[in-house]
Amino acid sequence: MNIKRQVLFGGYRLAKTVGFLRLRNRALNYANILCFHRVNNNEPHPDPLTVRVDVFDRLMQIVRREYHPISLQSLIERVKKGEPFEPNTVAITFDDGYKDNFLNAAPILKKYALPATFFVTSGYIDTERVFPWDEETPVKHPLMTWDEVRELARMGFEIGGHTVNHIDLGTASIETAREEVAGCKEKIEKEVGQRINAFAFPFGRADAIRDDVLDIVRAAGFDCCCSDYGGKVTTGSDRYNLERVSMYPTITEMLMELDNFMTYYKGTMKINFLTSKTALPQVSVGMMPREP
Ligand SMILES: [Zn+2]
Repeated sequence: MNIKRQVLFGGYRLAKTVGFLRLRNRALNYANILCFHRVNNNEPHPDPLTVRVDVFDRLMQIVRREYHPISLQSLIERVKKGEPFEPNTVAITFDDGYKDNFLNAAPILKKYALPATFFVTSGYIDTERVFPWDEETPVKHPLMTWDEVRELARMGFEIGGHTVNHIDLGTASIETAREEVAGCKEKIEKEVGQRINAFAFPFGRADAIRDDVLDIVRAAGFDCCCSDYGGKVTTGSDRYNLERVSMYPTITEMLMELDNFMTYYKGTMKINFLTSKTALPQVSVGMMPREP
C-alpha cells in the first residue's frame, strides 16, 4: 500500500473512531445508492464489474448492522416529498441482469432482509447473448432467465429497466432511444406481470445521459432514473438523475464512500473533510474504471 493510501485509510479510521463521521453524516443528509454488476468467485479478481461472494456477504452484513438500508422506491418517495433521509441511508441496485445476481446475491440479500432493485436488459434475458464488453473475458457471464427474474420479483425485490439492447443512449437516434426505453418496460412488465417504475441508464456516464432521452424515460412512465458516474443523493436531488456509487477494490474503501468520507465523482476522487460544499484538493487513490 502506498503512502497516500496509508494516510487515507488512517485518516478514515481516526475520523470513524472519534465519531466525527457519525456526527457529520447526521448533518449531511446524503443517501448512497450502491451499484453492483456481478457477484461471483469465477474470475480473476479484481475485476471492475465483479464483487467476490464473501466480500458481498460481509458488506451486506455491515450495511444491515451499521447503516439504514431502504428500497429504491422508499428513497424516491423521500425525494418526491422533499423529506430528509435518515443518517447512513443506503439503497442497493444491480445492473445488466447477470445470473449470479439470482444465484449469489439474492440469497445473501434475503439472509439480511435487505431490499434491492435489479435493472435488467430485456433483450438479453433468457438468451445466450453476450455483452460486447464480456466477449474477451476469460470466463463466461450467463444472464438470468425470465423465470429467475420472476422469482426475484416474487421474493420481493424490485425489477427495473435497463433498455432492450444495452445501447449507448448518449448517441442513439431519438426513435431508437424510444424503442429501447419503452420496449424494455413493456417486455419486463409482460414477463414479470407487474408495473415497473425504475430505469437505469446503460453506460451511466454523464455524457450518456441526454435531456431528450430523459423526456422519453418520463413519457414511458418510469418514475426515476439512475446514473452511474458517482455522487450522492440528497433531498433536493432530481429523481431522473439519481447518482449512484459503485464498488471499490476493498470493503474499507466502500465504507469510506458509504460514510461520505470520500466520493468518487465523474472520474475523480474527493475527500470530504468538512461538509459537502467544501471544495478540497482532489486525491487520486487508484479508482477502478466503472461501466457499463
Ligand atoms: Zn449496464
